[in-house]
Amino acid sequence: MQSLPKLRLGDMLVTAGVLSEKDLAWALDEQKNAFKRLGEVLLEANLVSEEDIAEARALQLDMPYVDLEDGVISSSVAALIPEQVARTYNVLPLAVSADRLAVAMVNPSDVEAIDAVQRHAKKRVEPVLASETRLQKTLDQIYGAFDSADIKASIKQAIEDVEFTADDQSQDADIAEERRQSGQAPVVKTVNLILQEAVKQHASDIHLEPRANCLEIRYRVDGNLHQVRNLPKQLQPAVVSRIKIMSEMDIAETFNFTGIEYPGLIIIADRYWDTGNANLEITVAHEIAHQWWYSLVGNDQVGQPWLYESLTSYSEYVYVRTVYDDKRAKEMQDGDRDWYNFYRGQGAPDLALDLPVSSYADNNYGMIIYVKGPLFYAELEQLLGRERFLDALQLYFERHRYEIVQSVDVLNAFEDATGEDLDALFYRWVGDFPGLDPAVVEQAQQQNQQVQ
Ligand SMILES: [Zn+2]
Repeated sequence: MQSLPKLRLGDMLVTAGVLSEKDLAWALDEQKNAFKRLGEVLLEANLVSEEDIAEARALQLDMPYVDLEDGVISSSVAALIPEQVARTYNVLPLAVSADRLAVAMVNPSDVEAIDAVQRHAKKRVEPVLASETRLQKTLDQIYGAFDSADIKASIKQAIEDVEFTADDQSQDADIAEERRQSGQAPVVKTVNLILQEAVKQHASDIHLEPRANCLEIRYRVDGNLHQVRNLPKQLQPAVVSRIKIMSEMDIAETFNFTGIEYPGLIIIADRYWDTGNANLEITVAHEIAHQWWYSLVGNDQVGQPWLYESLTSYSEYVYVRTVYDDKRAKEMQDGDRDWYNFYRGQGAPDLALDLPVSSYADNNYGMIIYVKGPLFYAELEQLLGRERFLDALQLYFERHRYEIVQSVDVLNAFEDATGEDLDALFYRWVGDFPGLDPAVVEQAQQQNQQVQ
């Protein structure tokens, strides 16, 4: 079902009067540099709303649009497909006739979703465009917000199961086997509930972190990592193997993440496989780079997220210049710099890199850690020259493989490898951290006071 759109999305938004020509020109430029979709760039810069985009796309595709805030959804029509199908594919039946079913969708070219709905409802689907946020909100209204008591009960059962299996007491093992056969295996349910919870909170990533005595689960929402819950350590093998199985099956198409990192396991969202989605390549490069900057050289993800994310984001530049050329990598870097300057030009706070996740609000986290961070490494590379820069990175890697690093470890590796004094530069970008030369900090603070 491929037909060329008559007008581009940007033009539709301008025609509809919700976007100025000037903002469109800026966003198109930005889109090229940032490897993003136009809609994403516009949303991130708050130039249009999600509803504006959905409405414009509907016009573009010559399809009806529904503003879900307007209408009352009939629960008997909604019941034509099961909750699981509705949630899995982000679809909602709106109206029914003898042989047709109007279905609100975010992505009307999702043939798999249309297929699933048609199979259940036994009617031909007529897609109606809706915005993702409103669609999910409506789904929550219909099916009820998610009860965290469900997770607790399911975790409790899962532990019982794991313990039964470990004890190998035949009668208890039979119960566990029975549950498994009935498709109600508590581990499976626990993992499903955790993933559903992440979807409902609009999490972009799930982090699973094996700790000494538990498996810690955190969601990234609006750029911030939130600790969600700790699972008992004895569930770790079962949960991890369940997620591995799902990742081979359909986790990516089922849930709305960009990527999930877990030592030895990378999950990339299925929607990134859409033809022409430039995000896929960079997301894969990013997640692979975490094998070095996270899996091999570790750090505190909550206390000092810049240590692994900024270097991983910088590695995207290295990927682009290695696979393509310097010119393209430079364009990407310039794009980041423009974006960062634009952000500062809006009066947004230019926070230091070495701060805990909780210090950043909403959009700050992404801007500082994923944009300013790689620009810092680019600046270092500019200053030292590429060869010395890479030597220093090599030293950093070799010194700290299988270790947990602090900011001072980055500084020391770069100074030791190059013989340069980099404290002032680090202070300017990374901020004040233990191990930094106090004289440099004092001098910089005095200069600041003079300026004020
Ligand atoms: Zn990352």
